[in-house]
Amino acid sequence: MPRKYVAGNWKMNLLKEEAEQLVRTLSENYTANPDVECIVCPPFPWLTQTKALLGETGIQLGAQNCAATEKGAFTGEVSAQMLASAGVRYVILGHSERRALFGEQGAVLLEKTKRVLEAGLTPIFCIGETLEERNAGKLEQVISHQLQEVLGHLSLPEVLNIVLAYEPVWAIGTGVTASPEQAEEVHTFIHGWLTKTFGSEASNVSILYGGSVTAENASGLFARNHIDGGLIGGASLKPADFLKIVNAW
Ligand code: PEP
Repeated sequence: MPRKYVAGNWKMNLLKEEAEQLVRTLSENYTANPDVECIVCPPFPWLTQTKALLGETGIQLGAQNCAATEKGAFTGEVSAQMLASAGVRYVILGHSERRALFGEQGAVLLEKTKRVLEAGLTPIFCIGETLEERNAGKLEQVISHQLQEVLGHLSLPEVLNIVLAYEPVWAIGTGVTASPEQAEEVHTFIHGWLTKTFGSEASNVSILYGGSVTAENASGLFARNHIDGGLIGGASLKPADFLKIVNAW
């Protein structure tokens, strides 16, 4: 059975004290649930303070990006090993904002995924189509391509250490959510791609949905086949909403 996850992507939001306040509120109100892994992904400068504040709550720490290279003269980059030594367990890779705004595509995403796996961390690897691609009937082609160019170069044991996130670009930060039916259709396609490519063991790979998930719509999405949780942007900045999503099953 795939594990269930709810991960909050804070993106480039919150100053030091605001980040501290958010984690304090989450930590005070969170009740650990062995069935659902709860993750917060703050900006790099707040990782260590967040780690300290999370303490023994059971909420896990994620990062929003990492370097494609291991170490050395790469000014401004942060390596997967550094993240691991800061207590990070998960790294978001392939987010549509990094794809669209920073030109990250297949080859670099494959390298980043390998660095994250080598550091013993779990990539949360994001894929998703634009509205133009969907309207042009290219949904399955785009999704298979994004899977193939990274997962297609990895082994089954590596793939079993990855969490996938289906995030239709048109639903991210727009307030327009994919309907539970639309999301289930794509998750079922991704699940089929995984088992066709890697065999039935790949059924254990978790596939999260992301794109305007709220405290109100989360349970309808999470009730669907092959939807193993959510990657949450805007709503992860509101602790009460985020915790409702964590408890939405
Ligand atoms: C995201 O950034 O991954 C995301 C899903 O954002 P939002 O929930 O705000 O649409």
